Amino acid sequence: METEITNTLYRLNGLEWSKSSRGGQLSATKKAGVYKYVGHQDCTRCGGRGGWSGWPGFTCYRCGGCCVDPNVVRETVYTAAALPAAQEAAHKRSNRAAEKRAAEAAEARAKAEAAFAVWAAPLAEDLASVARLRGRNPFLADLADRLDSYVTLSARMLEAAKAQIARIDAEDALRAATADRPYIGEVGDRVEFAFTTVRVVSLPAFHVTSWRAVPRSLVIGRDADGRVVVWKTGSYDYPDVGQTRMVRATVAETTDYNGTPQTVISRPKWAE
Ligand SMILES: [Zn+2]
Repeated sequence: METEITNTLYRLNGLEWSKSSRGGQLSATKKAGVYKYVGHQDCTRCGGRGGWSGWPGFTCYRCGGCCVDPNVVRETVYTAAALPAAQEAAHKRSNRAAEKRAAEAAEARAKAEAAFAVWAAPLAEDLASVARLRGRNPFLADLADRLDSYVTLSARMLEAAKAQIARIDAEDALRAATADRPYIGEVGDRVEFAFTTVRVVSLPAFHVTSWRAVPRSLVIGRDADGRVVVWKTGSYDYPDVGQTRMVRATVAETTDYNGTPQTVISRPKWAE
């Protein structure tokens, strides 16, 4: 039964409502000034054109070419007098929903924190080390940030973190032990020590003359106390990486490489 309305009607958002050009039915509800509208609108895909007659042509699959959207529009609309109360009620509803969401989020957070605490308890020492060394290593910094947000770490991450912590702690211990004697000798000293090769780096070739170049390497090693010793050479006579050989060499230079003291040696005589 169509209700004849003479008032201007509004949507809940306050915009003026007008009947779709496709027609529809407006009916009164039990509440004064509140109406329900059920109607059709132009197809939302083709805009009511139903297709396109130009080449190659198509028929809109949403409306089957009939131009009317298959979905029925249902709206509640209000007279100016009824609108404020409806908006107020909607506002309260959305506030209640927001409060409920906030409460649920707080509960979820508390749950996550409790689960995190259970996970973290047996790992307290390792996790404290991650936080302690976060400034030393970007990987540990990333893990520390996760822990700060109560995110647990996978077993693999934890293993990698432990390896990093052990490496940094060992380095620190070594440095502390040799703090008062960071170099293997004074410049010019001829010293004998056990050289363990850690890494060999290729350097740009050294030009003996403009037409003759000698490939060179930087041999990086440690002595028995863990102090860094380097040797710049064109020779291949030095221990393989991980191997140790006794050597007599001259201290050519004592330098600092990114905060690590290193002794540069020359004229090494390797023991067999
Ligand atoms: Zn259509």
